[in-house]
Amino acid sequence: MSSTQLTTWFNVAADSDFSIYNLPFGVYSDANVKHHACSAIGDTIIDLFELESADVFNISRTVLEQPVLNDFIALGKPVTNAVRLTLQALLTNPDSVLKTNADLYKRVVKKQSEVKMLMPVKVGDYTDFYSSIDHATNIGIMLRGKENALMPNWKHLPVGYHGRASSICVSGHTFRRPKGQQKPADAEVPVYGPSKLLDFELETAFIIGKSTEMGESVSTANAADYIFGMVLFNDWSARDIQAWEYIPLGPFLSKNFASTISPWIVTLEALEPFRVKGYTQDPPLLPYLQYQGDKNVDIKLEVAIQPEGGKPSTICTSNYRYMYYTMEQQLAHHTVNGCNINIGDMMASGTISGPEPHEFGSMMELTWRGTKPLQLNDGTERKFINDGDTVIVTGYCEKDGKRVGFGKSEAKVLPAN
Ligand code: CA
Repeated sequence: MSSTQLTTWFNVAADSDFSIYNLPFGVYSDANVKHHACSAIGDTIIDLFELESADVFNISRTVLEQPVLNDFIALGKPVTNAVRLTLQALLTNPDSVLKTNADLYKRVVKKQSEVKMLMPVKVGDYTDFYSSIDHATNIGIMLRGKENALMPNWKHLPVGYHGRASSICVSGHTFRRPKGQQKPADAEVPVYGPSKLLDFELETAFIIGKSTEMGESVSTANAADYIFGMVLFNDWSARDIQAWEYIPLGPFLSKNFASTISPWIVTLEALEPFRVKGYTQDPPLLPYLQYQGDKNVDIKLEVAIQPEGGKPSTICTSNYRYMYYTMEQQLAHHTVNGCNINIGDMMASGTISGPEPHEFGSMMELTWRGTKPLQLNDGTERKFINDGDTVIVTGYCEKDGKRVGFGKSEAKVLPAN
């Protein structure tokens, strides 16, 4: 996308995540529509299936009336990028068919507040990385002390594990506090019950837009061709269950009960203008992990807790640019052994913490394992997440007055049953 200034005939607030430069993809439903692909501008959605009744994109309408975007994404970036740019042209041209045809406009344009956003993709496989150096260092200090905070492999490869796709939900859901085995420090044997240390993890995830065959590897240079876009990702975690179960194979039931994504997939193309230089990676990485250019992204991230019946309190502000490894490196590493990837696969960043205490991306770090409780605006304290709390993750890029945002990922914790 060019850096030229674009003006839409839509009324878009200056602080809207959904400017003319964004145009993300999602799936919605309402009283009349079971599921249609859509985009967003300002506080409205654009029904792409209805819009294509005017043949503006020259693509099959069938892919726009599926429950998920996988078939649309499978058309390939040359097509999906063209759809986005055509939409951008329609929304900037005051003589476009969408502006001048009142009947079409009525079918296509709907208030975001009046539709329900659905899971945008069918996630076949989900991987979670551990790529924020501040997060890995904080957790390492808690577990092993300052001297051995980072494990010897950490600066040589993007550590990750295969997670669970079935419990990834779109923003707006609720879930029950998970139950499971925990072993209190003073107990001889484990106990079973609701997690007492329920946590969020501030993450983003990228969505695979192009499949590979087994045996094929994606290079850092080509990785962008395989990444359709990004969403916000909250990797809910039960720290007490995790502490007992994770040795030696990593997290299991402490992570697979729920994850929450934002409903709009912001395309990699919309994020390109916000690329920034990544971390200096020292020691140097093996050649397959090296890359050229500015491959990190300046995404401002924020987490708020909204207690039952109360107002949200911001508890953390961080930034995606704090990631030590880039998405391109994560994907290159993921496929270097020939592991095949499929459209709709989701790969999460790992908790994104910054160097400052207010930039820590989990309660575990913000309250330092519960030793320094946070105070919310209503005066109540939190060590971890309470029943009735809604955790709201937001994120956006902004540069030269152009804003491209993700909307939000929010979910509410219900008491264990
Ligand atoms: Ca995680």
